[in-house]
Amino acid sequence: MSRREFLLSACGAATAFLALNACTAEEHAAGPASPSATGSTPGGTYEIPPSASVEPESAFEALGGEEFVFDIQGHLLEYHLNPVLNGQDFWASFPQQGCGEDDPRACYSIEHFLELMFLRSDTNMLVLSALPIFPERSPQGHDVMDLTRKVAASLCQDERILLHGQALPNVGKLDAALDAMEHTANAYPVAAWKTFTHFPDAFEGDGNGWWLDDRDPNERQVGERFIRKAKEIGTDTICIHKGLSLGSPFASPDDVGPAAKRHPDMNFVAYHSGFEADVPEVPYTNATRSMGTNRLIWSMEREGIGPNENVFAEMGTSWWFVMRYPDQAAHFLGKLLRYVGEDNVLWGTDCLFYGSPQPMIQAMRSFQISPEFQERYGYPKLTKELKAKILGLNGAKLYGVEPNTQACRFTRRELEQIRRTLPSRNRVLGPTTMAETQAFRDDDREQWATMATMLA
Ligand SMILES: [Zn+2]
Repeated sequence: MSRREFLLSACGAATAFLALNACTAEEHAAGPASPSATGSTPGGTYEIPPSASVEPESAFEALGGEEFVFDIQGHLLEYHLNPVLNGQDFWASFPQQGCGEDDPRACYSIEHFLELMFLRSDTNMLVLSALPIFPERSPQGHDVMDLTRKVAASLCQDERILLHGQALPNVGKLDAALDAMEHTANAYPVAAWKTFTHFPDAFEGDGNGWWLDDRDPNERQVGERFIRKAKEIGTDTICIHKGLSLGSPFASPDDVGPAAKRHPDMNFVAYHSGFEADVPEVPYTNATRSMGTNRLIWSMEREGIGPNENVFAEMGTSWWFVMRYPDQAAHFLGKLLRYVGEDNVLWGTDCLFYGSPQPMIQAMRSFQISPEFQERYGYPKLTKELKAKILGLNGAKLYGVEPNTQACRFTRRELEQIRRTLPSRNRVLGPTTMAETQAFRDDDREQWATMATMLA
């Protein structure tokens, strides 16, 4: 086997996890290195036998699986409508830009997305989740998401992709925003609403944010009306980006508990679980309750919401961060399972931003919380059954889908053929009208001007 082949194999993945185990153990032996590493042995470990690094069967035993994998946070970006004006240069922020296309924006296409999800990972079904991007000419607008759903339905001969409806009640006039929700629900099969209390503030720094519970009379009072509108339309699940705040205070999950208390008949899913990339995941205590995911737990506790009620925790991007730090990963998962509930922790990855989600799936399949952490913090042991719930069964219950473990396989040629027969053709990237060209050039000029000032 060549080195390249080896690294691409399950044995290669097993070796990487074994190295991570070894480094973590060594770090602990040297003394407490971080706030999450509170013992002399690691709080979490990847349960992989050394033989998995050389024997494919052993590697598959540790990292493979036949369980239902339902990823409730998928994203893609189709830049064929307008490459620069909208989308906050999302493409430039993620590893997927290095996929090997001449134009890195092409790495985020529908084709790449379906290939990474269905051919290069064990994902069986997924939800395309809305992004914090203004809807006009969005590279992941409802039209793009729905086209992806249709392409997958043709390729797989069954329904595998669910859609979020994007709701931005604080952008523009509230009545118009609520009307837009109704139009969206009439035009597309909306499985749940995705909204962003920190958008556009997080990108524009304009203070335009809001709270689900309208807690602050000085901010836009749109939370309650938004929730009622969702209910009126007949969708009972609201997904809110919480955590990964990019400096906006509105991304705090502090309002999730109160909103969930006020609406016991609605489900509130905290996407990212309140995790912050620069805040370590530590035990939940009075002293740490305003940190990271602890904020979500604290907001539930204040309202008397227990595990397995109407608050849910989704782990997209958050798991990608913490799986590198087994102590943090143990706290992250352990806390969510204990306080949000074993039925309410949901699998999501935020892929294709990080390429194929397969390493994250493998990490989940092999991860274990140490007996010491289980005893000390009341975290559960991660059994195969519990992992199957996290990886798919919990999400299936929430979204009301029948678990489908049949793989969807197709060739690149079939993918291209189907794409060609559907309404939106493959196009060369770039503006296509006079107005778009003008705007494109203005934008470009502005960027150069900014760069010139920075260099000066
Ligand atoms: Zn996301």
